[in-house]
Amino acid sequence: MSSPATPPAPHAAAPGLLARLAGIVGPRGLVTDAREMEPYLVDWRRHYRGAALAVARPASTAEVAAVMRECVATRTCVVPQGGNTGMCGGATPSPAGNGIVVSLSRMNRIREVDALNNTLTAEAGCVLANVQEAALAADRFFPLSLGAEGSCQIGGNLATNAGGVNVLRYGNARELALGLEVVLHDGRVWNGLRGLRKDNTGYDLKDIFIGSEGTLGIITAAVLKLFPRPRARLTALVAVDAPAAAVELLARLRGACGERVSAFELVSRLCVELVVRHIPGSREPLGGRHPWHVLVELADAGPAPTLREDFERALSGAHEAGLARDAVIAESTAQAQALWRLRESIPEASRDEGLLYRHDISIAVSRLPAFIATAAAALERAFPGARIVCFGHLGDGNLHYNCLVPGRRHVDPAARDATDVSDLVLDIVREHGGSFSAEHGIGQSKRAALARYKSPLDIAIMRDLKRALDPLNLMNPGKVLPDG
Ligand code: FAD
Ligand code: ZN
Repeated sequence: MSSPATPPAPHAAAPGLLARLAGIVGPRGLVTDAREMEPYLVDWRRHYRGAALAVARPASTAEVAAVMRECVATRTCVVPQGGNTGMCGGATPSPAGNGIVVSLSRMNRIREVDALNNTLTAEAGCVLANVQEAALAADRFFPLSLGAEGSCQIGGNLATNAGGVNVLRYGNARELALGLEVVLHDGRVWNGLRGLRKDNTGYDLKDIFIGSEGTLGIITAAVLKLFPRPRARLTALVAVDAPAAAVELLARLRGACGERVSAFELVSRLCVELVVRHIPGSREPLGGRHPWHVLVELADAGPAPTLREDFERALSGAHEAGLARDAVIAESTAQAQALWRLRESIPEASRDEGLLYRHDISIAVSRLPAFIATAAAALERAFPGARIVCFGHLGDGNLHYNCLVPGRRHVDPAARDATDVSDLVLDIVREHGGSFSAEHGIGQSKRAALARYKSPLDIAIMRDLKRALDPLNLMNPGKVLPDG
């Protein structure tokens, strides 16, 4: 973790660079004052602090392209930045201060809504919640939804291939994008803004940029898929005895309700206890105490009655089979929001409990129960008294599997930098055929894990792509790929 108390003295900009950048983006578009730059130089979790020559805030694709031409001419590195809510330090420049941050936040126009084609074209700096609103205004639905949706931007969502709570039904950011516009390292603009659902014309270039975390180009706009607007929703919390019962319940619900099951989130007993302890206004959601819960959401573009009937029938079958112990169905929007608040507050509720080793992992849904059992036993053996804050998108096989270890505290740098807990957990993930990073990406924080868990051939192909698209290594250097 690189979090120096004072960043080193800033690197000098190439002669005339800042004046030329100001000429491109205008006086409102270039930030050089140290205090004004500060929010762009620290990541959301405050793990990383960097430095920069300036923050450029271009307002159009042409301005992004002109900025990139200046940067390539002067060999100046570029760190693209969206809403700066990323979890892995990908949007934070290096402490060397030898580059600029390019913030996309002024590129926030919805360029087009094509309701008949079910597509929306948004500039990269559109805040996700505003994209959702624009879809609703056209009586359509844009399903990407995550805790940071009030500030993360669609460009950042695509650059990280964000997941969130509706992946089970609609897929992650990659599956929601039909086209992209990207500015390359040398200022050329690749126009891939097509709203086609079928287009087999060679390599799919947009998929190279999605999930590349700003290391291959700057996404400036995207064509996004829209869906029918849900008219009826059902939110419920179901208590189960074990993760295996949750997996079985998911299969039954999908059998009974089909694709209307749009979210299926696992919440452990400890998570509920932490929320009740730390989040004002929260309380136990069910009468009894249960080891595990699932938060289920169903949505339908048709009328409500069949949704509820189908769900209740499936639930009662699950109850008779001993899979579901207790359940509450939200009777109002307020109750549904309260159930979601319980789920969404877990990260905040666990923050004050001690040093948290975080893991954003995915495993085939069918193998998750075995993983949870094996990892819990191994952690208890290696770190007696370890507490596991296990929650997340069970329907996608994606868990936030975080661990608290007795005696390990934030204030102790050795404990903070220790990799023993994560190595143990992620080795077990690998043994179960899973991924060490399901939805948050690599950024700075998971480069070592990438070196450990990706095959040499994976890494070699990634390096070839990087060299082809960014031969001078100016695009977000020091991110994603390991050194070497
Ligand atoms: P930033 O943090 O600004 O950037 C992230 C990366 O993308 C960086 O590498 C940056 O260089 C690059 N980048 C940004 N914009 C561009 C661009 N236009 N072109 C090229 N590269 C670019 N993530 C999930 O997947 N699922 C969740 O459920 C989820 N929940 C969250 C809840 C909270 C409370 C918070 C704070 C974060 C959560 N996240 C989640 C993580 C984060 O919100 C996502 O990773 C999000 O997609 C990042 O978007 P951003 O605009 O903030 O990107
Ligand atoms: Zn998540």
